[in-house]
Amino acid sequence: MLDIKSLTLEELKTEMERIGEKPFRAKQLYQWMHQKLARGFDEMTNLPAAMREKCAAEYEYTAVKQVQMQESGIDGTKKFLFELQDGSLVESVWMKYKHGNSVCISSQVGCRMGCAFCASTLDGLERSLLPSEMLDQIYAITLLTGERVSNVVVMGTGEPLDNFENLFKFLELLTDENGLHISQRNVTVSTCGLVPRIKELADKELQITLALSLHATTDEKRRKLMPIANKYTIAELMEACAYYFERTGRRITFEYALVGGVNDTSEDARELTELIRSLNCHVNLIPVNPIKERSFVQSESEAIAAFKNKLEKNGINVTIRREMGRDIDGACGQLRRRQKAL
Ligand code: SAH
Repeated sequence: MLDIKSLTLEELKTEMERIGEKPFRAKQLYQWMHQKLARGFDEMTNLPAAMREKCAAEYEYTAVKQVQMQESGIDGTKKFLFELQDGSLVESVWMKYKHGNSVCISSQVGCRMGCAFCASTLDGLERSLLPSEMLDQIYAITLLTGERVSNVVVMGTGEPLDNFENLFKFLELLTDENGLHISQRNVTVSTCGLVPRIKELADKELQITLALSLHATTDEKRRKLMPIANKYTIAELMEACAYYFERTGRRITFEYALVGGVNDTSEDARELTELIRSLNCHVNLIPVNPIKERSFVQSESEAIAAFKNKLEKNGINVTIRREMGRDIDGACGQLRRRQKAL
């Protein structure tokens, strides 16, 4: 069955014609799905009952079910575990900031990128998410918290650029004026660095922020942490980032997870400066969140501060990621793994 929540308004108009409904019904349906966040056709009370029945027979209407929620006692961060219609589990995180509420969503069930420090990839990839299933995480959280979401980061489980078509459709629907209408500038997509896909995304000329998970300054070191580094060199990545900026005018965010004794020396900071100084960018330092399956440890707080200082002295814009929800399985994929193991 056709997944109705993944259709653009234009596609929905064509569908209404196909099933013999008036074109204006498309907009009504679209608003029910993407603004009023209806959980099924039966909630769409201003549509004729016969039409609702026809839709229910013709279309698949995705929905997620909350199976768990953990709330941080420190900062109010909420981590949700949702079950999809086929029983798959995905994690999403809700964070409250002064400037608004941010949701971090998953783009795949599991991941095949194999990064050494990441819990999401330990069991490999199960499947990619549909555009509707990415939206559903945001819609469900909006309904559950009763608060508007203003920022979306695609930084949960999965490699978003490994699910390119669906990601792009999701971004279209999320930022559409007839839907939640989240500003493209308030959306960030994080990638481990699929070079051809970064270029393809750049060519779409969206105003979203691209975050690149760099984590190392030499190819040799990066290969030890991220298998994708065997496929694309750092030089190729930098060129793709420059291209992204050229096409979109959007400053790149480099994510750098600081791992104690692995990539946190002043030499690493110097190399990082060399690499990125010609780019219009921002660095987000992430103290690595240790997972029990691996032996990585966080850098000492002095090393983190020194690393940050060194970059700043060289004129690079740096932030240290606030560790939201450390008391609630904050690291990617940990909550889902625990539930699966039960
Ligand atoms: N696949 C995408 C997006 C998901 S991961 C990517 O690689 O960017 C989101 C970010 O969290 C990435 O920068 C990733 O490298 C980082 N990350 C994963 N596990 C982590 C951990 N245990 N500690 C700190 N950062 C982690």
